[in-house]
Amino acid sequence: MHKKLFIPGPVEVSQDVLEKMAMPMIGHRSKEASELQRRISDNLRKLFYTKNEILLSTSSGTGLMEGAVRCGTLKRAAIFSVGAFGDRWYSIAESNNVPADKFEFPMGEAVDPKVVDDVLKTGKYDLITVTHNETSTGVMNPIEEIAQVVKKYPDVIFCVDTVSSAAGVKIEVDKLGIDICITSSQKCLALPPGLSICTFSEKARERAEKVKFRGTYLDLLALYKYIKKKDYQYPTTPSLSHMFALDYQLDKILNQEGLENRFKKHIEMAEIVRNWADKYFEVFADRNHLSNTLTTVKNTRGISVADLNKELGKRGFTISNGYGSLKEKTFRIAHMGDCTVNDVKELLQNINEILNLK
Ligand SMILES: *Cc1c(COP(=O)(O)O)cnc(C)c1O
Repeated sequence: MHKKLFIPGPVEVSQDVLEKMAMPMIGHRSKEASELQRRISDNLRKLFYTKNEILLSTSSGTGLMEGAVRCGTLKRAAIFSVGAFGDRWYSIAESNNVPADKFEFPMGEAVDPKVVDDVLKTGKYDLITVTHNETSTGVMNPIEEIAQVVKKYPDVIFCVDTVSSAAGVKIEVDKLGIDICITSSQKCLALPPGLSICTFSEKARERAEKVKFRGTYLDLLALYKYIKKKDYQYPTTPSLSHMFALDYQLDKILNQEGLENRFKKHIEMAEIVRNWADKYFEVFADRNHLSNTLTTVKNTRGISVADLNKELGKRGFTISNGYGSLKEKTFRIAHMGDCTVNDVKELLQNINEILNLK
């Protein structure tokens, strides 16, 4: 039996979208490929509220995170971490021999914009990374306040991981001054995993021109130059199947559902799960910085999360245990992508039945 996914990626993919993955291949050097990729980029610009170029990579989001740190840092990167995905930026920098410092905040708390200011004020850094929505804790960082601070430092490249929020939460890239904004296919876009997307500003391009060793496969400047020169084609063979599905899904999101409706739906789903958590458990993260795409619930009843998931599995659902050290101490319910208010209500009803919650 298929278990409906309420985990923070991959998420449920609609049947019609899945079917697009099975379309016959086209040549990746054909005019059709150019048209497909240009249309995808135009639509992604609407999703990210940007005039910047869009880069696609046949890798998961981590691939573009690696490309961003490596191609964007000349001096030193400042990594702001509120959990596992913030830490990932730091290990990427370390393993690529990119000088970096990590500034951490306690689990469940958000980045303090004042600390960002204090760090950038030192003049030591020329790139910063922020996780917009920390999937390990359920915190959504105050990206607008952070952006206000970063704007005071025009030499700093602003990289934001919106892997678990883009297409579920409004992220206005140009207004926020984000240079590289990254997402993956398998979260709020509700596609199968395997493709990642980023926006790439003129400032990021100028910076990358000055960085000597940018690697090959994840060289963002090489991707940029190739699509400019070859009318939206890519230097290596991209996952055309993902592009067929993405093209179709973007049309659905932008022209059938409407972006504002999709954002509103995510807020509604989040409120339902938070209210449920308040009633029977507790919400784990800082109340002022709760994610709209997943809720981390504090296991105040001391239930066995593993057993709960086993029982849910028999009924055709699955949720996530806590991440890392938060395992069994918390559990996570994702409400992102094409998931609906009714799906969420059905899940919670089933949890109530299993745990005998009234
Ligand atoms: C899932 C996730 C990632 C990792 O993305 P992949 O596509 O698996 O590489 C990075 N950051 C956040 C916030 C995520 O939720």
